[in-house]
Amino acid sequence: MLTVTPIPAFTDNYIWMLQNENNQAVIVDPGDAQVVINALDENQLNLVAILITHHHYDHTDGVRALCEKYSIPVYGPKDSKFNGISQTLNDGDNVEVLGHSFKIKSIPGHTLDHISYLYDDPSSPLIFCGDTLFLAGCGRVFEGTMGQMLSAMHYFKSLDKKTKVYCTHEYSLNNLAFAHTVEPDNIDIKDKIVQCKKLRKQNLPTLPSTIENELLINPFLRCDVLNVKQHASAYATQPLDSELGVFSTIRQWKNVF
Ligand SMILES: [Zn+2]
Repeated sequence: MLTVTPIPAFTDNYIWMLQNENNQAVIVDPGDAQVVINALDENQLNLVAILITHHHYDHTDGVRALCEKYSIPVYGPKDSKFNGISQTLNDGDNVEVLGHSFKIKSIPGHTLDHISYLYDDPSSPLIFCGDTLFLAGCGRVFEGTMGQMLSAMHYFKSLDKKTKVYCTHEYSLNNLAFAHTVEPDNIDIKDKIVQCKKLRKQNLPTLPSTIENELLINPFLRCDVLNVKQHASAYATQPLDSELGVFSTIRQWKNVF
């Protein structure tokens, strides 16, 4: 049995903490060490490993201090610009932590080194997707191509619908405002806006999401839906025939939203 808890960091990051029944913990993307140390101490947990999704500082800056305090492996992508990784992972690898296996998928786009960690337990699957998939959104395409990012979206679409999606930023309300602009008639988006506003009023996270939910509300997973295609074409002032054309248009549209 795995429990996953968010540790809020910076202005809108979540550092995810996994723990098992033996009080062992694994931290995903520790951008800040102190908030992690506080959470471990408060819950009397033993840190046994760190998982890194990509090299950005807000996902990696706490690694050095944590490794000085705890002698632990740091799992992360090969060929990363971050040099604190001790166990490099390739696409298709499986990594064992807390007695459970996580499947590695290379999902370049946001960065070239970006990977995700899938726990595909049939009863409670979950994925750590870093800055690639957000609730109702996706990450900016900084280093890779639009085509690579669209391939990452196809990977998420292929997962079990029950899969819980652990994104690393609280961007949900802004993403939903954009999703509503792309699909003004989508009832699921409207409902989700109401739900997320309630949660944020109580200062609660809107995450995790699920693949099932994202398939209904996330425009970046819905580039093949006629309504999304039509609104993207109107924005681009030309008919967009390919899914990649639609994806690229709405990603650029979101950049200036
Ligand atoms: Zn990032």
